[in-house]
Amino acid sequence: METICHLHSIYRGTEGEGINIGMPQVFVRFQGCNIGCLNCDSMETWDFEAPMKLSVSQVFEEIRKEGLIHRVSITGGDPLHPKHVPSVLELAKFLKEHHFEMNLEASGTRIVDEIFDLVDFISFDCKTPSTGVKTPEKLLLKLDEQYANKSQIKSVIADEKDFKYVKDLKENLEESGKLMTPWVLTPCFNTGDQFNPELSQMIFELNYQAGSPFRVIGQQHKFIYGSKELRI
Ligand code: SF4
Repeated sequence: METICHLHSIYRGTEGEGINIGMPQVFVRFQGCNIGCLNCDSMETWDFEAPMKLSVSQVFEEIRKEGLIHRVSITGGDPLHPKHVPSVLELAKFLKEHHFEMNLEASGTRIVDEIFDLVDFISFDCKTPSTGVKTPEKLLLKLDEQYANKSQIKSVIADEKDFKYVKDLKENLEESGKLMTPWVLTPCFNTGDQFNPELSQMIFELNYQAGSPFRVIGQQHKFIYGSKELRI
């Protein structure tokens, strides 16, 4: 029996954030997340009742309909929730066999080695105090040890407290050696908000003062399409 993927949507778009910003790709968005970030911009993906239930081969057909794009972003929701892991793994194997490049959006709450080994790039969240969620330090160290050559750590920064948290955390993690994984800060841009240039300027300034340990990259898709647009 084929594994069924429980999905929110599949659509063509351009990576809007992080160090692969601007890359055309097909987003495969899994439905269901119970992590509960306070500033989540995808709350419509929390419910585990999926509007699309497709086999892996049907997902592949949908990806092919989006044209000549050979890069897929596996995202959510939380694609690494245990309910999704078997279908994400099967999809990743299938895409690998068909020579597709894969990006994985990981929520920072778990590492699934079988999936991490297969994908080409991992964007791994390090949650900040404004999210109300904490990313275990041991996961960041494991990511850095095993996957630094194909990962980024990504933190949403809503205020100075968030910046201080990631700065101190990075320094603590580097006590026994420099982290090799690039760490990207994303100025918070909540759904329905207007772009806040002062927040980005403050983060740039704090980063200069700290010795520039981070890259600061905004969410391009929200400047272009608006913060309420779900398709990016
Ligand atoms: S992990 Fe992602 S989808 Fe889940 S609550 Fe946090 S931001 Fe939203």
